[in-house]
Amino acid sequence: RTVYLNGEFVAEQDAKVSVFDRGFLFADAVYEVSAVLNGRLLDNAAHLARLARSCQALDLRLPCAPEEIEILQNRLIAENNLREGAVYLQISRGNSGDRDFDFPGETVSPTFLMFTQARPLIHHPKSQTGIRMVSVDDIRWQRRDIKTVGLLAPCLAKEYAHKHDADDALLVENGLITEASSSNAWIVDAGGTLITRPLSTHILHGITRQALLELAKQNDLRFEERPFTLEEAQSAREIFISSATTFIWPVVSLNGKAIGDGKPGDITAKLREIYVRMAVEVTGG
Ligand code: PLP
Repeated sequence: RTVYLNGEFVAEQDAKVSVFDRGFLFADAVYEVSAVLNGRLLDNAAHLARLARSCQALDLRLPCAPEEIEILQNRLIAENNLREGAVYLQISRGNSGDRDFDFPGETVSPTFLMFTQARPLIHHPKSQTGIRMVSVDDIRWQRRDIKTVGLLAPCLAKEYAHKHDADDALLVENGLITEASSSNAWIVDAGGTLITRPLSTHILHGITRQALLELAKQNDLRFEERPFTLEEAQSAREIFISSATTFIWPVVSLNGKAIGDGKPGDITAKLREIYVRMAVEVTGG
């Protein structure tokens, strides 16, 4: 793979980052993941707007203007002949030459890196079979709206899920589901209404979540943005998760108990179909 590091496109084995990089020592870094379909970025303006917001919240400088970042992303997609998958980008506060908690001054420039990941989005098997989930305590920090690389809690949640015969975890705080370990969580109630948690510092403001709410509106699907409990999820008609790299995946069981009839739900399938149609259309496939 060709990767991007601080102004250069290089072979992945030639990309070197200092041991004193603050991303490495303090997780002092933010990231974004944009989907690529038909060789084109999907909803990238929204991802770059969230990146700017994450940077601003941490007083972290954007290495260049969003429009320039997009040019670099597109060049990386072309260099790697990526048709379907994602572009990962990360900006850390850079290498301050030692381990020191204090922010370095303006003279230290951010470390900006990007790489591509090929992966099926439209025909991913999990989108058909659905996934099994378990619930775990949400032990993350209190600013989940900032997309930082401090991802140990979700790694532990996924590892716990795998050890308990599941694919992923739903995170629970005060009896309420915040989101999934790397995606937003949704339930469908008995009347067919889509329910997802409202925006706050408790969850990441998912770009796919926002697009789905917009599509639900346009397609006259009922939805509500409100917190929901683990019990509600357990007895929901359907559960699904959303993210840039899954789009929508149905959830067929939670803590070993079937959701609905234990098969991917109809409303989930319909919403996925609407999203996929939009995604294919805007990427010119
Ligand atoms: N929530 C968390 C914790 C995530 O890590 C992600 C994506 O990685 C999402 C939600 C979904 O966000 P998006 O739709 O922007 O990919």
